[in-house]
Amino acid sequence: MVGRFAPSPTGPLHLGSLRTALAAWLSARAAGSRFLVRIEDLDPQRSRREWEADQLHDLAALGIDWDEAPVRQSERFGLYQAALVELERTGRLYPCFCTRAEIRAAASAPHGDLPEGAYPGTCRAITPAERDARVAAGERHALRVDAGAVGISYEDALLGPQSSLVDDFVVRRADGVPAYQLAVVIDDADQQIEQVVRGADLADSTGRQILLARWLGLPVAAYAHVGLVLGADGARLAKRHGAATIADRDEPVEATLALLAHSLGLARERESVGSAAELLDGFDPAALPRGDIMLGAPSQR
Ligand code: GLU
Repeated sequence: MVGRFAPSPTGPLHLGSLRTALAAWLSARAAGSRFLVRIEDLDPQRSRREWEADQLHDLAALGIDWDEAPVRQSERFGLYQAALVELERTGRLYPCFCTRAEIRAAASAPHGDLPEGAYPGTCRAITPAERDARVAAGERHALRVDAGAVGISYEDALLGPQSSLVDDFVVRRADGVPAYQLAVVIDDADQQIEQVVRGADLADSTGRQILLARWLGLPVAAYAHVGLVLGADGARLAKRHGAATIADRDEPVEATLALLAHSLGLARERESVGSAAELLDGFDPAALPRGDIMLGAPSQR
């Protein structure tokens, strides 16, 4: 088996991401699997090499290791482009000319059984002749899949049976950048990832990714979505909650590791843990806690 952690280098890793990384690493290593780190730096505006280095440093500080030099999505656009060509060839895509405001307005209106915020498929109705003319005229557009609100089900190792209706999501942004939903599917298949352990905020995206994998004839990994870490106010942990990153915490990194281990049910409160490898003995991924957890405001430097 191969497992992975795939952070976006847009800032320091906070406790929620570190906890997910630890769960992913333990799940892979306890099964004797390889483990990879992939840098999801698709977005040229938000991704920075400094954050990449900072994130890898923090992972290593916890004792998390990986078997190959991390790949960067920014260096793999050719792979994503080939997948877009294939999706286009098989008639799965259409150009979407909607502005952000139009998408917001459309998505806020109810439409059939699709979940709230789903794109209702406005541009799907444009005739092929008009589409071609507008694209030929250079009108700015994203590429969306024609998903047909198909229902996708899968068994999540932590969340149990999941099912969702897939909306017409974007696979290439209007600025030409491949969308995360596409790149993640191509990369997980290309890197032969069989076990995806990641944050529960991505559970809703899984149906989209399984659909793309099916269309492209790619294998589908096993998924386990780990609960999010919330701040004391119940909102997802963020900078404003105080010491949410290793650099911000006024404690040795072992203390942060101990906190994460305790939050995963792997150590008693404040039990000392020297390194991630100490948690491998008897680790059972099926026993990871379900649901989001709150980590109270820790001391701040
Ligand atoms: N890059 C994504 C993030 O940092 C994670 C993608 C994934 O694990 O599939 O939220």
